[in-house]
Amino acid sequence: MIFRLARNISRCRPMVTKGLNRAYFSVLKANYDNASRSKKLNVQNVQQAGGSRMLNVTWNNDTVSRFPFVFLRDNCQCSECFHESSLQRTYDTFNKLDMYIQPQRVEVLQNGEQISITWPDKHVSLFSSQWLHSSQATEQANTTKERSSLQREGVRVWNGNKLQGKIPSYSFQDVIEDDFTLYEWLHSLHSVGIALLKNTPRQPGECNQLCARVGYTKTTNFGYCFEVHTKLNANNLAYTSLFLPPHTDMPYHDYVPGVQLLHCIEQVLSEGGGNQFVDGFYVAEELREKDPEAFKLLSTTRIPFTAKGIDIFGEFHTKFARHIIELDENENIVRFSCNNPTRDSGLHVSPEKTIQLYEAYLTIGKMIADPANQIEHKMLPGEVVTFNNSRVLHGRSSFIVNKQTKRYLQGFYLDWDVIYSRLRVLAKQFNIPFRI
Ligand SMILES: [Zn+2]
Repeated sequence: MIFRLARNISRCRPMVTKGLNRAYFSVLKANYDNASRSKKLNVQNVQQAGGSRMLNVTWNNDTVSRFPFVFLRDNCQCSECFHESSLQRTYDTFNKLDMYIQPQRVEVLQNGEQISITWPDKHVSLFSSQWLHSSQATEQANTTKERSSLQREGVRVWNGNKLQGKIPSYSFQDVIEDDFTLYEWLHSLHSVGIALLKNTPRQPGECNQLCARVGYTKTTNFGYCFEVHTKLNANNLAYTSLFLPPHTDMPYHDYVPGVQLLHCIEQVLSEGGGNQFVDGFYVAEELREKDPEAFKLLSTTRIPFTAKGIDIFGEFHTKFARHIIELDENENIVRFSCNNPTRDSGLHVSPEKTIQLYEAYLTIGKMIADPANQIEHKMLPGEVVTFNNSRVLHGRSSFIVNKQTKRYLQGFYLDWDVIYSRLRVLAKQFNIPFRI
């Protein structure tokens, strides 16, 4: 009953729900505001300028959107052009689409809630005003909303000062039982890049339930999940008690795991064994401002990473070369990868550029190591820390293992495609306009 109440409040008044961080709710509220604005738009009139290949649609707020006829014909929504159950296009664009198509007739129907276009072959396309509005071309440069990457609308960067002691937290049981808490957790992963789940039963395998709530896990050369405890002849530094500098996992894969989940089952009671986290998007933006040359080098030169060893699927040897700072076509940071222990040796650039690269690499390395950019959290048994592996770096203090005290974590990976899919489905369920 308590959950139900909280959920209803959340849906009506996003600013006053359970104690989550403010950035998250301002995003949610902005989405509500945008939705209520765009819902009211109907078509006032349509116009085909002489010789134009566009249809000008004037909305009832007097703004105008321009739709190329070639686009409208290609996207006819009828059951002949779009398969009804799969919602996939059956129209044969490559063989049938005429680049210079002009309509025979265009009509505004149902007080502007719909337009109808009759094409020269008598085929009729109906478009709702809502569909037209959400499918219109952009007259300006790309906005964050349209970014199909990990830095989409709603992402908020942080340093130590902003997030220390304030990692968004949820109860494991709530995530398992309540769909709205599931949405909130995944949305925090999207916006803040890190979230904690508390009071998870202290036994291996519990994260399987959690991952099943989202979809399915990502398997890697370390297995279906991975066990972090000290091992003899470790095939990964994670399986020792040594200090681990903040890093992202598996940059030596083309398809890097999207999100990591680390379930703390046993923790050392003595000093050490705490985790440090750094927002790679934040330090990269700082670097862009303070040292544009270093930023340019790290975002345009590929650094090779590699891993070799033997694990449950047998012997492995993976390698991939990538930009530490990955940018999209508009120079937005979309991925951050750094893992010094698995960095390969050959850089395959000139000796001069090698020296410049080292300088840039040390600069970003010092920013990552700067306590001002880090948050520290020593996990308690029963906590699961979850974070965006293409953004948030994680490190670990060294610790001492003895007979009385052990440290045992179990780790899982989920891919962003699976998480964003669940977020969209949940947003639809709760009528939240999450359009990314
Ligand atoms: Zn059609």
